[in-house]
Amino acid sequence: SSSFVTLNSGKVEEEKTPDEISATPIVTDLCDINPKLFQQLIHDALVWSSLHGLVVGDKSVQRSGTVPGVGLVHAPFALLPTFFPQIHWQEGCELAPLFNELVDRVSLDGKFLQESLSRTKKADGFTSRLLDIHSMMLKINKKEEIRLGLHRSDYMLDAQTNALLQIELNTISASFAGLGCVVSELHRNLLNHYGKKLGLDPSRVPRNNAVSGFAEALAKAWNEYNNSSAVVLVVVQTEERNMYDQHWLCTILKERHSVSAIRKTMAEIDAEGELQPDGTLLIGGQPVSVIYFRAGYAPSDYPSESEWRARLLMEQSSAIKCPSISYHLVGTKKIQQELAKPNVLERFIENKDDVAKLRKCFAGLWSLDYSDVVKTAIERPDLFVLKPQREGGGNNVYGDDLRETLQKLEKEGSEERDAYILMQRIFPSASPAFLVQHGICHQDHAISELGMYGAYLRNKDNIIINDHCGYLLRTKVSSSNEGGVAAGFAVLDSIYLT
Ligand code: ADP
Ligand code: MG
Ligand code: MG
Repeated sequence: SSSFVTLNSGKVEEEKTPDEISATPIVTDLCDINPKLFQQLIHDALVWSSLHGLVVGDKSVQRSGTVPGVGLVHAPFALLPTFFPQIHWQEGCELAPLFNELVDRVSLDGKFLQESLSRTKKADGFTSRLLDIHSMMLKINKKEEIRLGLHRSDYMLDAQTNALLQIELNTISASFAGLGCVVSELHRNLLNHYGKKLGLDPSRVPRNNAVSGFAEALAKAWNEYNNSSAVVLVVVQTEERNMYDQHWLCTILKERHSVSAIRKTMAEIDAEGELQPDGTLLIGGQPVSVIYFRAGYAPSDYPSESEWRARLLMEQSSAIKCPSISYHLVGTKKIQQELAKPNVLERFIENKDDVAKLRKCFAGLWSLDYSDVVKTAIERPDLFVLKPQREGGGNNVYGDDLRETLQKLEKEGSEERDAYILMQRIFPSASPAFLVQHGICHQDHAISELGMYGAYLRNKDNIIINDHCGYLLRTKVSSSNEGGVAAGFAVLDSIYLT
């Protein structure tokens, strides 16, 4: 029986504008023409996903976030890849190494980081603690000779200007390199079988080397550290339903590069970790060469002082931190906004063409000091996004909430406004998509966000890796503000080059 696959009528529910119809002729027609084929596609996609590890822990199963192999459900995915213009895809590819370099350069300017975030520090307790660790490292003149960055720069294609604009740059815990690759394989596989009937060519889905690129970067970093008995330490949350994305990476690291990884929570690192006089971090007596953070980016990752002790211990160690505290801070939204100010990029990047390429993808970004922008945002909140210094999705403020928050902050005239930045809202064009969640396929108008992964590895002056590696497309119902997959707003997707 295929009763677990429930479909809505298969008809587009909303009135479409002529624009939307012409943008995607094939996909819209699909279920109208042949519902049987459509059912089969969904069925095949669900089977393929289950057999090939396109999976996450199921919220409704209690141990699914702690015990691997328990309570798996397919990750939410788009049934078919989403059209994306080749020219903007190439632009995103070219930007990846530039952002890698920018992160490295900015991270070396401790004074810039401290000063840019000095007012945020007063308003945001979490950022303040990160800055404290950063200033401790500045005080002891801690040198990070081997620097590893595994980043993801996220973009949306603004419909009105046809410009690829950056949403944000993630320097810590950039997720879905693993599952993103699997979903690209799913789409190529479906198009290999059904492409002729759908009029879609599988080779237009770009090969996704995100997870192999990240694994290789971790392996090369491990190699630079040059201690063959050392392991990679993956810092994890106590419960993680996105663990299979992480296991993909660590399994490839082990199988292809023979490098072992151990998974520890911050509390465990506090309990089991110690520093040797030469700076080597030992966990339960085992030396650690690379620390890969998949936790530590949110206040909830630090429920007690124990976790902060662990973060400091790791930062003090000689292990390669991905990210170091300074790379982490470069990824804050406040720094994104500071870098978008006139003449700031030029302080870090000499090449004028590179500066121009970077600047071209910057959307409007403002601190709440710009009273005319704040005024406009109160009048037209729909044109802005208000962002606190948070990661992981679900933290931004939109619409009426945005207006009310700004009005409240204006009235109080308090420091609290330094906790936020304002950003121009980007409006990608919506197109019909099939979103598969929990075995159910919904048809809706959707918009997409392209994530471009970048890997960077440097030992002193020797740049070992500075590459774009793979991508992630996340697609969400166009009426939804936020975009997180883990947070339940979006589905994993890949691109179909047009
Ligand atoms: P986080 O670090 O929590 O992921 P983001 O800046 O990526 O924060 O914002 C979360 C989501 O909000 C994005 O994935 C995107 O869907 C939406 N978003 C953020 N900024 C904008 C913007 N300027 N225009 C439109 N949508 C945005
Ligand atoms: Mg983020
Ligand atoms: Mg984001």
